[in-house]
Amino acid sequence: STAALAPQICVVGSGPAGFYTAQHLLKHHKLAQVDIYEKLPVPFGLVRFGVAPDHPEVKNVINTFTQTAHSNRCAYYGNVTVGKDVLVKELKQAYHAVVLSYGAEDNRVLGIPGENLSGVYSARAFVGWYNGLPENRDLKPDLNSETAVVLGQGNVALDVARVLLSPLDMLRKTDITEGSLAAIAGSKLKRVWLVGRRGPLQVAFTIKELREMINLPGTRPLLDPADFTGLGDVVKDVPRPRRRLTELMVKSALEKPGEKEAARWASATKEWGLKFQRSPLEVLPAADGKRARGIRMAITSLEGSGESARAVPTGEVEEFECGLILSSIGYRSRPIDSSVPFDSKLGIISNSVGRVQGATGLYCSGWVKRGPTGVIVTTMNDSFDTAQSVLEDLQSGLLNLSDSKEGFECVRSILHSRGVQPVTFSDWEKIDAAEVARGRLVGKPREKIVDFQEMLQLIGH
Ligand code: FAD
Repeated sequence: STAALAPQICVVGSGPAGFYTAQHLLKHHKLAQVDIYEKLPVPFGLVRFGVAPDHPEVKNVINTFTQTAHSNRCAYYGNVTVGKDVLVKELKQAYHAVVLSYGAEDNRVLGIPGENLSGVYSARAFVGWYNGLPENRDLKPDLNSETAVVLGQGNVALDVARVLLSPLDMLRKTDITEGSLAAIAGSKLKRVWLVGRRGPLQVAFTIKELREMINLPGTRPLLDPADFTGLGDVVKDVPRPRRRLTELMVKSALEKPGEKEAARWASATKEWGLKFQRSPLEVLPAADGKRARGIRMAITSLEGSGESARAVPTGEVEEFECGLILSSIGYRSRPIDSSVPFDSKLGIISNSVGRVQGATGLYCSGWVKRGPTGVIVTTMNDSFDTAQSVLEDLQSGLLNLSDSKEGFECVRSILHSRGVQPVTFSDWEKIDAAEVARGRLVGKPREKIVDFQEMLQLIGH
């Protein structure tokens, strides 16, 4: 029968990778059923828990994901941790194809003494905290010092700096959580330094985010002219995005600001800056031995040039006073299950165009496939590529549809036997409506619920 020939496919993770993979499969295979499993009760991964609260336009992709979830050939099962509540092996028995799109839930560690002192946080945890990720709700970062250092010079580092320094009137209108807004409002912070191991030609942030920082009301940039002198000529031959980005830094550091800008900088009460060629060596403890009071950094010189330049310590060191240190040196994926080949050096599932090495019927997409870099559009394209690999394998007969699979019916009984109650997409829509209603009362797009139990209660679990 035709029903027997309908491919049963599941996707693990409901971030951009999961949703874009599902979207492509549903669009290009008219019979495919795609089930999405998500560990958290609520969907959308880093679009909800990563993207900065003052970037609401980036979150519009949620509308497209919602359309996908409304397809009658797509189902969402939240509150299901794959690898614990149901194993990859069990999903493989239930589905013709399993796509792993579970992102990168760890962060790279600095690996230096003092990293665990109070006042030192990973950007991942800090971002999770201001965005209402349940596991970070109790972070309570210590914001009692005037100076913060963000280790890293990527877009996440800029997000963190911007959220710390934004005027409260701006933040108040975003979906930042109530608790973190109150903490930032009470903070003593005046200054944020973004520190990189290499130089201005190696920063990882992009021009839109830098421009936003330069234009942030109430703040002025601290850019040392010496860091930028002569760079305008050096970048003449580099690719356009890097050239324009460098030109903007050079202009801000070396040119006299216009009248309006000069006035804004003069009246600013907060400031931010870039420090280059500094590599963290040790977080220095305060007299109580518990809190951070500063950081010791090695001054580096660059070997080679361009993107591949390496930072090498010169032997000189510098100590810098700061009570808040946020390490923003990258996210990292974890292996999900010993049966799935994982390249621990690259931190990704070993794959070729999304086909997991040596495992027919198993695929991956998104950050767990490529590594934790790239914007949502990059993730979209690589997820379409993976979906294409699945479609090709269906077409070629590598995935055998006459081997009938039960899909969710099979998983339902496994979850039931383990006492796990999935959250459906219409359950999420109830949580969503409650959040939007709470937000409306205080002039925000939503007030996120940060407590798991409260979410589950709301939907009658
Ligand atoms: P994720 O979005 O992380 O989704 C993975 C999902 O899998 C999560 O929902 C997770 O809960 C779930 N999961 C994990 N483990 C399991 C399991 N065992 N079982 C079931 N489910 C599981 N891009 C932009 O274009 N614009 C921006 O402004 C922007 N800002 C960003 C800010 C930050 C702080 C970060 C970190 C990234 C930002 N990005 C931005 C990049 C963008 O978020 C990523 O490209 C994209 O989210 C990666 O998608 P993904 O689906 O691979 O991972």
